[in-house]
Amino acid sequence: PTMAHSKALLVLENFIGGKFIPCSSYIDSYNPSTGDVYCRVPDSGKEEVEAAVKAAKDAFPIWSSKSPMERSQILNKLADLIEHDLEAFAQAESKDQGKTITFARTVDIPRAVHNFRFFASSILHHITECTEMPTMGCVHYTSRTPVGVAGLISPWNLPLYLLTWKIAPAIACGNTVVAKPSEMTSVTAWMMCKLLEEAGVPPGVVNVVFGTGAKAGEALVCHPDVPLISFTGSTLTAQRITEKSAPHCKRLSLELGGKNPAIIFDDADLSQCIPTTVRSSFANQGEICLCTSRIFVQRGIYSEFLKRFVAEAKKWKTGNPSDPTISVGALISKEHLEKVRNYVKKAQAEGARVLCGEGVDPLALPPGNQKGYFMLPTVIADVKDESCCMQEEIFGPVTCVVAFDTEEEVIRRANGVKYGLAATVWSSNVGRVHRVAHRLQSGLVWTNCWLVRDLNLPFGGMKASGIGREGAKDSYEFFTEVKTITIKH
Ligand code: NAD
Repeated sequence: PTMAHSKALLVLENFIGGKFIPCSSYIDSYNPSTGDVYCRVPDSGKEEVEAAVKAAKDAFPIWSSKSPMERSQILNKLADLIEHDLEAFAQAESKDQGKTITFARTVDIPRAVHNFRFFASSILHHITECTEMPTMGCVHYTSRTPVGVAGLISPWNLPLYLLTWKIAPAIACGNTVVAKPSEMTSVTAWMMCKLLEEAGVPPGVVNVVFGTGAKAGEALVCHPDVPLISFTGSTLTAQRITEKSAPHCKRLSLELGGKNPAIIFDDADLSQCIPTTVRSSFANQGEICLCTSRIFVQRGIYSEFLKRFVAEAKKWKTGNPSDPTISVGALISKEHLEKVRNYVKKAQAEGARVLCGEGVDPLALPPGNQKGYFMLPTVIADVKDESCCMQEEIFGPVTCVVAFDTEEEVIRRANGVKYGLAATVWSSNVGRVHRVAHRLQSGLVWTNCWLVRDLNLPFGGMKASGIGREGAKDSYEFFTEVKTITIKH
């Protein structure tokens, strides 16, 4: 780009030791709804990560010795500041990620605010264990201390939401952090850095290094002074992180992909099930790790379900994300859009039926969005269980619907993938709901609802969907070291 052009771009800087620091090289970041480069993101590497880890290490003694109450007040202040700027954060998240402004306003940014408030509160309520051995004259108790510098790596689908879900518990527990957001969605993390000083977060407690996974991410994972890594992203990247961190025996929390089933029995309340399952399939363009992508419908209601489900899906309008009447925004990138479209082509080639969306219905876009990465919500029926569309994470607005006969059969088929993150079960038979939930290989099971979360409880996946859990108690345990102390009296 020419100088004049590059001047118009938003240029981000790393945030290290409480200061914004320019980088020697940058990568382009696109606005997914127009296809234009609009922002330049530092292309950090070893050197920048080294500086950030040093700043975090230097800040650790003071931050870790503050009381939970002092840290809690700072987290609450940060929550207030983000909330005060909610609209600006929502606009930035929508522009950077392609998600609708409505979703950013009602889900992403409110949840980022809540993440800080939640851990500001929960950090005050932990208790440790104590046991007695009267015959030995001993008492035992446990104590927990922060670990040190935490490396936090987050994906592009829910940028500030998922990054703050890691920063909040890490610093509430007294750790200092080096965070690396996705290179495709870095803007809201950079905006948050501007509020840290006013919130009272001391320099070096939160450092943010922008850049790619291969360069900045790996430098963080390989750094000997970063004993724990909390990662949310794909299973493939998690394998690489596990390999690279193995020589240092790092503590890892891995929140990964899913291939989440919805199981719909013939006694389900379809008036609730259908709109909720459309939402669980297409919310945030299907780019949520918890989105439904395999819908098993009991044979007796299969054709009625398909008809009503497709009619409901067609109500979801695709278009300019800043238009509040739009439900489906742009996908994250051109490459990702191609990948998602290819899955639909493969399903068609295998003989499945595409009932609406990609390749079937016309997609009309406003003039300014012609080069954006848009796709209609797509429903595919009669896909074979072994098809890649039923096995692999698509991570786009595509959902597959198939029929089943018995409870036993559907449990086996729902469990027949490598992932195990989330499942939904729809039935009015309470016994069946419990039986099925119990046998699903899935870290989360929602019955007769979707995405209702109590942050106190464990969040995370089984099998290829992850290792470890996050939540009030789980994050506290991950971000602290426990010690057992015995006293003889
Ligand atoms: P990704 O794995 O490509 O990237 C995630 C992050 O890891 C990015 O910041 C990236 O730069 C970084 N990274 C990439 N390679 C790295 C390496 N070698 N070393 C260190 N860091 C590296 O994932 P994505 O495409 O950004 O996100 C989509 C994926 O995230 C999907 O699979 C989705 O299911 C998953 N996800 C899971 C959850 C969950 O809570 N389980 C939540 C959201 C998204």
